[in-house]
Amino acid sequence: MLHFHILTLFPEMVMQGLNTSILGRAVKNGHIFIEAVNIRDYTLDKHGKVDDYPYGGGAGMLMQAQPVFDAYQSIVDRVGRERASRVIYLTPQGKTFCQEMAQEMAGESDLIFLCGHYEGIDERVLEEIVTDEVSIGDYVLTGGELPAMVMADAIARLVPGVLHNGESSQTESFEDGLLEYPQYSRPEIWHEKRVPEILLSGDHAKVDAWRREQALLRTKERRPDLYEKYRERQF
Ligand code: SAM
Repeated sequence: MLHFHILTLFPEMVMQGLNTSILGRAVKNGHIFIEAVNIRDYTLDKHGKVDDYPYGGGAGMLMQAQPVFDAYQSIVDRVGRERASRVIYLTPQGKTFCQEMAQEMAGESDLIFLCGHYEGIDERVLEEIVTDEVSIGDYVLTGGELPAMVMADAIARLVPGVLHNGESSQTESFEDGLLEYPQYSRPEIWHEKRVPEILLSGDHAKVDAWRREQALLRTKERRPDLYEKYRERQF
């Protein structure tokens, strides 16, 4: 089972987002565990404050080290230091998330996601607890909650048992370095567009060959960078 522990100021946002559909089912079936730990519950400030002005001036507020560290420590106290060793800070300054990272992380027993808000988090606590800094792309969001949800979703669906047979992740985009081929469902003709004849032929070898060709064409056209990497790996 993979345990996701999400350190956040907005636990309800994360829990509502992750507890539906396929992931909700995976939680119920015991394939994954998801908890949101409210950083605000750990502040020692009597007014419940978790942020303050940055030293040196500048716009916005910064999340302070103490509540973040104590919220993290509460996970260590419950699950032990070894299980609480992988702490991922969601930040636009991190390494860009990709399918390969999702595959690697799906093998862990526990992942702790640290979500920043406002201008971010005091650097000193990041230095102490964070093992990985990950970005979901070159743009700036208001908080790390959506990125944590994006990562949890991509990782969870690779945990054995989460997807049922019919939802297999094997043929999906990126799994073999290519984008997926186009797909069609009923009816055979819609808006005068016909489903490619070969998909109705019942010849599995021909269907596989067509899909392979389409995946190559599509990747070459839409993601020449991926196509080049794929070609390099072939030779
Ligand atoms: N001041 C920070 C900077 O310039 O790098 C940006 C802070 S951002 C407004 C607030 C929080 O949102 C960050 O601490 C981070 O947790 C999250 N965040 C924003 N964009 C993100 C992205 N592209 N990937 C991952 N996390 C992001």
